Amino acid sequence: MKKFLIIIICLISIVGCGKKEVVPNIEKDKEEETKELTVEDYENNKVDELGEVPIMMYHGIHNKKNDETDYIGGNVDKDGYQRTSEAFINDLEMFYKNNYRMIRLTDYVDGKIDVQLGKSPIILTFDDGLENNIKVTGLDADGNIIIDPNSAVGILESFKEKYPDYNVTATFFVNGGLFNQPEYNEKIIKWLVNNGYDIGNHTYTHVDFSKASGDESIKEIGKIYSILDDIIPNKYVNIVALPFGSPYNLEHENMKYIYESTYESKTYKTKSALRVGWKSESSPFNKDFNPMFLKRIRAYDNNGEEFDIQMNFKLLENTKYISDGDTSTITIKKEDKNLLKSSPNLKVVTY
Ligand SMILES: [Zn+2]
Repeated sequence: MKKFLIIIICLISIVGCGKKEVVPNIEKDKEEETKELTVEDYENNKVDELGEVPIMMYHGIHNKKNDETDYIGGNVDKDGYQRTSEAFINDLEMFYKNNYRMIRLTDYVDGKIDVQLGKSPIILTFDDGLENNIKVTGLDADGNIIIDPNSAVGILESFKEKYPDYNVTATFFVNGGLFNQPEYNEKIIKWLVNNGYDIGNHTYTHVDFSKASGDESIKEIGKIYSILDDIIPNKYVNIVALPFGSPYNLEHENMKYIYESTYESKTYKTKSALRVGWKSESSPFNKDFNPMFLKRIRAYDNNGEEFDIQMNFKLLENTKYISDGDTSTITIKKEDKNLLKSSPNLKVVTY
């Protein structure tokens, strides 16, 4: 009798527990998957998807220490358009430690900001297609390019390994000389787009649009799109970095040729244009966001003044975009509701 009771109890407990455990677990998992963040989560993380986004403007990265130049900080030239590799590495460390994670410029323009809860997006751009952006030292036995670890891409690749969650990426804006390595240019461009980087348009001869004719403007833009189309069809971004930031206003008559036209029977359409910058740009969900005239931060040092890196990142401490970690929602503070663009196409959460 005792034995029989024990068996019954065991059976009941196996069947019962089995049922009880399996069913609630499934429900619990579902709950966690769709778990809505609370106001407290937003407050603790200071979520603000109407905050500002830094688009960094780099040119050359020179394999030098900061004390090997004649200028302040990591500047290689007087105006700080060229930067030392030491300073570039320090920039990348600083961005990461301040919870910035990289996103593609083209995704930002499209309003796709995929970073984790509490993290902020940052965008890297390089103008002029300088050799030191991605210096190729030769080919390996399989014909793949060997990249100088001290060039910009060499450094970026080391950060890919160091911080896998950094989401390392950048957009390179080239002229007719591409990366100025005729032997390797095509291989470089293919390698970049196959390894998470983007290529954009910086005009064929680095033209000043305020001084160019309409026909010249079309050729300057159309020719680069055409070259990229031949090497990496459909894989380049239709974004122009305006040389010298010119023309300096959207009303300029050449802007329409930067937007769209036809060059040698090929039609092109530009989705975004970048200025030579000084400060961070607004969220793509802000009503004033204009993808045709985006500001950038000049990556240079000036003792924390005149919108150098230090000054900009200090300003950003209070104004930066901070993600809710969910690409399907835009989470904003109640008081900012009037700043939101009219048809955001995503679910809006206010707190
Ligand atoms: Zn340039």
